Amino acid sequence: MSTEPIIRIEKVNKWYGQFQVLTDVDLTVRPGERIVICGPSGSGKSTLIRCINHLEKVQKGRIVVDGIDLTSHQRHNIEAVRREVGMVFQQFNLFPHLTVLQNCMLAPMNTRGTGESEARAAAMKYLERVRIPDQANKYPSQLSGGQQQRVAIARALCMNPKVMLFDEPTSALDPEMVKEVLDTMIGLAEDGMTMLCVTHEMGFARSVADRVIFMADGRILEEAPPQQFFAQPEHPKLQAFLGQIL
Ligand code: ADP
Ligand code: MG
Repeated sequence: MSTEPIIRIEKVNKWYGQFQVLTDVDLTVRPGERIVICGPSGSGKSTLIRCINHLEKVQKGRIVVDGIDLTSHQRHNIEAVRREVGMVFQQFNLFPHLTVLQNCMLAPMNTRGTGESEARAAAMKYLERVRIPDQANKYPSQLSGGQQQRVAIARALCMNPKVMLFDEPTSALDPEMVKEVLDTMIGLAEDGMTMLCVTHEMGFARSVADRVIFMADGRILEEAPPQQFFAQPEHPKLQAFLGQIL
């Protein structure tokens, strides 16, 4: 396995108007690594994740994904990165007018030129992997939240991403559905997927993460393996944060 980083974020700074949302963020992710990002609401976690596939652009610093420099803002670089990066959002973002199967087939057919039968076969493979092949012909509104989120994961996997980004994938779910989504994510991690997950599910962080990152006020304040992160938090803001959520 290559030890070249798959994601390299160097001194990234970003503003929304006058408001600086990210300050000097540095982060390197190697292939196969599982990173969990946590921190108070408003600390810039979603913004950082969204910068990695250029849903947001940075004004200063560099983001390189699998050797492709996003900072140049060149259309073909952005498209190339988006083909390699799968994203799962808090609010599922499935297309309501398409069936589960159609949701999974759309991007491979439209952006990769994959043929219909091949796209269907891949979609069914990943729907089986997230254990809902029986829901393939339903519409999102006919599914539970946990099932919809598993469809969103399957849909991202259909693009054969090298990296999966998760932005609080269980935060919008009823409590009884959190486990089925976390179990799906654990399965992905066990298969060696490179993952960057914003989540406050600290059990997940403990069992899956190679490193846990704490963000506050647009900065990475601490970064450590889970054992150390939870047992010996150094920054007072992290200590306070852990005191609130654990
Ligand atoms: P988190 O995911 O950690 O809760 P966000 O990245 O969503 O944090 O937001 C960080 C800060 O940036 C918040 O103060 C938020 O209000 C602000 N913000 C987020 N998106 C925008 C935007 N599109 N325009 C202006 N401010 C924004
Ligand atoms: Mg967020």
